[in-house]
Amino acid sequence: MSLQEKVAVVTGASRGIGRSIAVHLAGGGAVVAGLARSEDALKETAALVEEAGSRMLVCPCDISETESAAETLERIAKDEGRIDILVNNAGVTRDNLLMRMKPEEWDEVIRVNLKGVFNTSRSVLRPMLRQKGGRIINVTSVIGIMGGPGQTNYAASKAGIIGFTKSLAKEVASRNITVNAVAPGFVVTDMTADLSEELKNEAKERIPLQRFGVPEDIAEAVAFLADDAAAYITGHVLQVDGGLAM
Ligand code: NAP
Repeated sequence: MSLQEKVAVVTGASRGIGRSIAVHLAGGGAVVAGLARSEDALKETAALVEEAGSRMLVCPCDISETESAAETLERIAKDEGRIDILVNNAGVTRDNLLMRMKPEEWDEVIRVNLKGVFNTSRSVLRPMLRQKGGRIINVTSVIGIMGGPGQTNYAASKAGIIGFTKSLAKEVASRNITVNAVAPGFVVTDMTADLSEELKNEAKERIPLQRFGVPEDIAEAVAFLADDAAAYITGHVLQVDGGLAM
């Protein structure tokens, strides 16, 4: 993989899958701009990026806030002179059965997971059009494909990302910008840490490869889609789920 001289923006880079993506892209030579709300945790990622041989701009930002996201992306494009790769990875869950789901739980998941992708993607288009090329990679979920009880809000946001990915891919293909999605299955991070042992065992039984994913599994797929090797792939949803959604 060669990402030398590329600038990659990674949302949700403060932990879990996003942290691993930041380190992988840095390992390929990219300069990374890491976005998340927690500055201290972003600094920890920045230290790992340095160990991987590159540097990371620490950009505290709530991606669901349109103005703040736009300002952050503008600053990155101005300071670094370009944005080549955007990885929309930040996401949240607020699980509840629909009967009990509060409007705030619905709104927050849609605001962060879906509006956040709108905010950041819109902001990178100008620099990518100027550069005559770019890569947008959206992290969706198998839940957006298969659904999941207690996750109507999350599934709607992740299915929305798939529709967004294909529509934007068609809009910008003629400008040499590709837009793809990666759909992780069950990955061991803070997001899944609170699930009961019973639920985890049940989930594992449904995975043909018989193990949960680790953040590196997802980061490898994202790094591939960011690389020149994937230049002819757009509008694709790459499932990285041990066969779960097959
Ligand atoms: P995680 O460990 O909970 O990390 C979520 C990341 O999103 C954190 O860096 C968090 O940073 C950031 N974030 C949340 N709200 C934000 C906001 N408003 N503005 C900016 N950043 C925000 O989750 P993960 O497991 O790594 O998940 C990463 C992505 O993979 C998510 O989109 C998730 O839906 C998807 N996914 C995960 C799994 C899984 O099994 N883990 C499966 C399928 C898909 P701050 O809290 O510092 O803001």
